Amino acid sequence: MSLVIGSLERPLRVAVVGSGPSGFYAIETLFSAKLAVTVDVFDRLPTPFGLVRYGVAPDHPKIKNVIKIYEKIALDPRFYFFGNVNIGHDVSVKELQKFYDCIIFACGAETDKHLNIPNENLVGSHTATEFVGWYNGHPDYQSREFDLSHPVAVIVGLGNVAMDVARILSKTADELKGTDITQKALAVLSQSKIREVHVVGRRGPVQSAFTPVEIKEFGELSQAMPVVKSEDLVINDASQKELADPQAAVRKKNFEILKKYSAITEQKPRKIFFHFLKSPVEIKGKTKVEQIVLEKNILSGEAGQQSAKGTKVFETIDCGNIFRSVGYRGVPIDGVPFDIKKGIFANNAGRILENGKVLAGLYAAGWIKRGPTGVIGTNKPDSEETVNNLLADVAKLKGCESPSRESVEQYLKTKNIRFVNYQDWQKINAAEIERGKPLGKPREKITTLKDIFSCLS
Ligand code: NAP
Repeated sequence: MSLVIGSLERPLRVAVVGSGPSGFYAIETLFSAKLAVTVDVFDRLPTPFGLVRYGVAPDHPKIKNVIKIYEKIALDPRFYFFGNVNIGHDVSVKELQKFYDCIIFACGAETDKHLNIPNENLVGSHTATEFVGWYNGHPDYQSREFDLSHPVAVIVGLGNVAMDVARILSKTADELKGTDITQKALAVLSQSKIREVHVVGRRGPVQSAFTPVEIKEFGELSQAMPVVKSEDLVINDASQKELADPQAAVRKKNFEILKKYSAITEQKPRKIFFHFLKSPVEIKGKTKVEQIVLEKNILSGEAGQQSAKGTKVFETIDCGNIFRSVGYRGVPIDGVPFDIKKGIFANNAGRILENGKVLAGLYAAGWIKRGPTGVIGTNKPDSEETVNNLLADVAKLKGCESPSRESVEQYLKTKNIRFVNYQDWQKINAAEIERGKPLGKPREKITTLKDIFSCLS
């Protein structure tokens, strides 16, 4: 007689791919369910917490406090961490299915959307992902070099990532030195000659994707000030309607802050210029970035659906660096249907779909499920929805071949994959905190795989 999946004799075996917020909220929901379950989390990096560790800005330590919740979850005996295991490369989805009844993909949106303009990849034109990963110590981006010797930098996009990049470029070394920014990034930023940061949005101030808390900070920087032209705050009727919408309090707050900024008279040596209704159409430069060409836009469409339309009127900004911050995209994994248009795994409320039909046992949560939107907390209800659907499907599951953690460990060993478990991570964590102490920092991240592994030997 076969055992019932989810019983004490045969706990439900779940693999979660990705150890960021959506992965941890999925696990939290699984652990609060009324069934026996064990969860193994796979991450391609040897360190957990995904975007909280490598995406959240170093000068936003409060946002990183959610890690404390994840640490509690990780100490549950039903939890196991397999770091440094890349699903889709080291282990295929099919192989993983031998060991797990269900797989939840919570692997985020790791790459960037493109602008598709000439010279997009000229030296000096970077994605926000590269820059953010670099200053946050992500091992993938440590070989990147940022030459900040030109006084002008341009950031394309008006989301919160663009705001993070603008703030990090505008803060002084003193404002950054007590954070967990890497010493390497701090050294480069402290020599930065950037005096003007131009943040460029294709739509108007009312349609900006940033949030009030984030833009408020530009008014509080020691050596940098925001610059907003009052004529940019003269808005069309549809934007007036959007602003008056009681559901959109954020827009109203943003607008009020921008209005305040347009009246600032006190001068500071560094400036953050906000540009609205301008789209990048070309990057110019012989061997590296010298200019960005912007086309002025007007808004067209109904309130709530206004889009930018080019006017054939152009302007240029001379600059040395361009940071493209126009949103992220998910990366496909072999064996999981991918929605190319949306850059996510094809799914219905977290159930992975192939040609519209549910693929039993495969689920998605977080940015790879809904696209790269929302703050960390948005992932909680999102992951709950996925896990509730998974739990509703348990009775129909066939059950995997080898439902034991030991068989996974054995399998990884036979494939010569050096995995890192949670105890290993705790050692890495302690080493980073220790390295941070003499520098007056919460931690000094270990940024190369070689150094991470040498601290375990
Ligand atoms: P985002 O919020 O989607 O913003 C993307 C920006 O890029 C928008 O201004 C968008 O303009 C613009 N854009 C897109 N395509 C463009 C194009 N072809 N040309 C010019 N501009 C273009 O994305 P994000 O900044 O990457 O942030 C991702 C998510 O993480 C967001 O939900 C964000 O709030 C969150 N986040 C939060 C924090 C925080 O809480 N502190 C920090 C970082 C990130 P349109 O509006 O016209 O499309």
